[in-house]
Amino acid sequence: MKRASIVAANWKMNKNFLEALHLTNTVASTLDGSLQQTSVVLCPPFLYQHTIGSMLKEYSRWAHLGAQNCHHEEKGAFTGEISADMLRSVGTEYVIIGHSERRAQANESDELLAKKVSHAINKGLKIIFCCGEPQHIRARGEQDRFVKHQLERSLFHLDDTQMRQVVIAYEPIWAIGTGLTATPQEAQSVHSAIRSLLRQVYTATLASQVPILYGGSCNALNAQELFSQPDIDGGLIGGASLQPQEFVQIVRSCEACKNG
Ligand code: PEP
Repeated sequence: MKRASIVAANWKMNKNFLEALHLTNTVASTLDGSLQQTSVVLCPPFLYQHTIGSMLKEYSRWAHLGAQNCHHEEKGAFTGEISADMLRSVGTEYVIIGHSERRAQANESDELLAKKVSHAINKGLKIIFCCGEPQHIRARGEQDRFVKHQLERSLFHLDDTQMRQVVIAYEPIWAIGTGLTATPQEAQSVHSAIRSLLRQVYTATLASQVPILYGGSCNALNAQELFSQPDIDGGLIGGASLQPQEFVQIVRSCEACKNG
């Protein structure tokens, strides 16, 4: 079975309501009818989940709704938080867990991320799990070991069936929002290391089916070369997902690489 190709848009804390509707409309209407292999996951802020989810229903063959975070507890006295159940109730399908900005800014530890992953999966969400090394680790050539440690501590407690609900996003921290993209060879090398870890911890079949996305200053100019690598199954796109034409071009690059 061919594994899924996915391009996910992490809008972060950008776009007011009308801008968000415009971005969704433009992306959805431009791409509709043109994708055979590639799924698109839009991850707008919580506030717009319901509305954008309703807009995407018409495009459900290829377009999906994702959130950028969710809480690890079911419900209760957690002022300002959003639960997995709440997300499911408005039609959210995916949630990003472990983004480096949340690890750094909200002090999310590997242990907390493990709880979030389990809880979200048990509630029926699919996970886009982010991992990736900071610059000083890359400079020492220890990126594979660093990523392995992140996956072991937050993801590999899942059983085989649960792991089938996971998409891994390799996002070197030094490449996020910096304009410094990993070369296709650098990215492929870590993706291949992640896939062999999956083979060791789970099975060859599962390893061949888990999509591994690249994230970090991916744009319309570099997407095609990245996506043509054998273990890069698409991208998690930040800044470039805020411009509809650029994002559409990135998705088309993925489709062109994987539809062969
Ligand atoms: C991200 O934050 O997930 C990301 C990949 O950002 P950017 O594309 O802006 O580097």
